[in-house]
Amino acid sequence: MSEMTLLKALSAKVGANSLLVQAAGGNTSLKQDGVMWIKASGTWLQHAQERDIFVPVGIDPLLSALERDDPACETCTDFVRGDLNRLALRPSIETTVHASFAHKVVVHVHCIETISWAVRDDAEERLAERLSGFRWAFVPYRRPGLPLAREIRKRLKPDTDVLVLGNHGLVVAAETVAAAEDLLMRVVPPLRRLARPVPAHDLSALEDLAQASGYSPCADRVVHGLAVDTVSLIQARKGTLYPDHIVFLGAGIAVMEAGETPKLAAERIGRAGRPEPKLVVVPGKGVLLPSDATPAMHAMTRCLADVAQRLEPADPVRVLTLEDELALTNWDAEKYRQALPAA
Ligand SMILES: [Zn+2]
Repeated sequence: MSEMTLLKALSAKVGANSLLVQAAGGNTSLKQDGVMWIKASGTWLQHAQERDIFVPVGIDPLLSALERDDPACETCTDFVRGDLNRLALRPSIETTVHASFAHKVVVHVHCIETISWAVRDDAEERLAERLSGFRWAFVPYRRPGLPLAREIRKRLKPDTDVLVLGNHGLVVAAETVAAAEDLLMRVVPPLRRLARPVPAHDLSALEDLAQASGYSPCADRVVHGLAVDTVSLIQARKGTLYPDHIVFLGAGIAVMEAGETPKLAAERIGRAGRPEPKLVVVPGKGVLLPSDATPAMHAMTRCLADVAQRLEPADPVRVLTLEDELALTNWDAEKYRQALPAA
């Protein structure tokens, strides 16, 4: 079987595991004959076998552009090999992460277990205790695109094949698809954290509060942990933990106060200058999302619940700054990704 066939199979498998990838998050790539085939922006890894989701990018022109810090590296559209490209899609906004490795295969995931460490202020020290047998590096949070690529290039040694991206996720690299899968499967277990059980939520109270509000209670039981597990709520209300949250769900969460409607709770955050949250948490009751929420929004809500369930009360959680939040919501490449039809 060709490496591309194997990459598609691994992409679909990783993309179907919500503890590794949620919605259009995460991406994979394969370098062959001077071309890097990278997941297209806005497509879902889980569709890798049934749809064409890989875009060919010329490696040498991209690497020289990275070398001179060329703003064209923000979208990488200039480096798409038109002669090979069958899709009218852009390469992933994380194309430069993949190009920074010399390895043939790169897999980037928004692994829940990794994120639950990567959102800590002391992430690098805590991860060092768990990843001592790996050739790994920690990269502090930078906006995906050129700022992240610059930071990765500072920290990457020629033999580094595992990266943990602060407030973001995990990257593994190898010479073959099989070796990349093997490495991914070895890195995740030492990062596993205990997920607290989710107490029962109050569906009838939520339905009453949601009546004629344009919001609906989430169908996924685990998601309500954000409202009924005290520690999850304390940690999640601190702010936005990673980029895909703000991209799909706005800034952090809105915690509904007595006498408020869900919409007013969300607008209260928006009035403070942050991108209005979609996710409304009713403490002790459960979680509401807009009734027209997309599958991506539901997947990202589950992601936050899964991360928050693994955080302990004393965890020194680091959230994105207002500047980080606005850099993501005002970024052209992200606007393009969000504008793509929901899968
Ligand atoms: Zn990512």
